[in-house]
Amino acid sequence: MNIAIAGVGLVGRVLALNLLSQGHTLTLFDEDTAYGDKPAGMTAAGMLAVFAELETAESIIFEHGLRSIELWPHLLKIIDLEEAYQLKGSIITAHPQDYSELDHFISTLKSKVKEAQDIELLDNASLIKLEPDLEQHHKAFYIPHEGQVDAQQFMQRSSDYLLAHEDITWHQESKVEEVSEGSITCEGEVKAFDWVFDSRGLGASSQIKNLRGVRGEVIWLDAPEVNITRPTRMLHPRYKIYIVPRANNRYVIGATEIESQDQSEMSLRSSMELLSAVYSMHSGFGEARIVKMLTNCRPTLKDNLPNIEQGNQLTRINGLYRHGYLLAPAIVEKALNEGINK
Ligand SMILES: Cc1cc2nc3c(=O)[nH]c(=O)nc-3n(C[C@H](O)[C@H](O)[C@H](O)COP(=O)(O)OP(=O)(O)OC[C@H]3O[C@@H](n4cnc5c(N)ncnc54)[C@H](O)[C@@H]3O)c2cc1C
Repeated sequence: MNIAIAGVGLVGRVLALNLLSQGHTLTLFDEDTAYGDKPAGMTAAGMLAVFAELETAESIIFEHGLRSIELWPHLLKIIDLEEAYQLKGSIITAHPQDYSELDHFISTLKSKVKEAQDIELLDNASLIKLEPDLEQHHKAFYIPHEGQVDAQQFMQRSSDYLLAHEDITWHQESKVEEVSEGSITCEGEVKAFDWVFDSRGLGASSQIKNLRGVRGEVIWLDAPEVNITRPTRMLHPRYKIYIVPRANNRYVIGATEIESQDQSEMSLRSSMELLSAVYSMHSGFGEARIVKMLTNCRPTLKDNLPNIEQGNQLTRINGLYRHGYLLAPAIVEKALNEGINK
């Protein structure tokens, strides 16, 4: 089929990789360049926090998350980027005065899915065995089957792959005004296709009701004195932070969650909260260098859940909120099975 995808962010790329492997010819449209930083998928930490997200999410997120964790290695293999996937589990900890937060968090997860019974309480000695650099923490939990995809590597390598593919035409810096059944309107011109996908994230708000942005800020640090190897969260009564390790002692520290579509630079308050929390977690961050501070908005629907809308020659996927990496492969699989491949 001759297929168009409007919006080549995270969902658009996962769609493209799937549809190419089924032998279709694709035309991609994005208002950004192929290597630009507009997609929320470019800002994301890429955590696959299938259990930890359950604190505020529903069990459907858990089921799709488990499926995505199975699917990511296949997608990454297509673009020859298997090393961008890590599934070594994650750590959750807190300062002693906040242990009640920690216990409450874990009991919430355990009450939601039976698989959360595998979450393991770690004392200082067992924590040191897993993560020697977290030695100052005396209580933590180890969550197996969690991990991460290096989001920025995925975005970069998928651009390389899709741009080089002979069955793809990619219209960069091309803003789509409307996506309808079997057609896309781009810069005033209506183009017809056998099937069209709308994966414009927040950019689809004129055609998707109740779509809003939830602002998120992250800081990248280079910290040669810190050696944490797994995604690690620290709970606090006012904010929760995570540290996602990347190669060469680089860490992504995130993320704020603010009900706003403001995409301007990080606020002083957010930077102070993130940086002081991370320094209190490991003093080695004191000498870290700030590489960059990033802001973006998560495309979010009223119920904070993902949505697939099927029409005649049309599929819309949106609302992946703070779970895009955790959900995209499974949601795309479902959307294809219930739509174009039905
Ligand atoms: C700070 C932060 C941290 C995050 N961390 C995680 C995490 O650790 N784990 C996780 O699972 N998820 C995380 N997420 C969430 C994840 O990034 C999103 O859920 C995901 O990117 C949504 O994918 P999408 O394809 O719908 O939207 P996007 O990735 O935003 O892509 C939308 C694309 O559409 C294009 N577009 C928009 N409008 C138009 C138009 N009119 N015409 C043409 N093109 C258009 C944009 O340029 C963009 O390329 C995080 C998000 C943020 C902001």
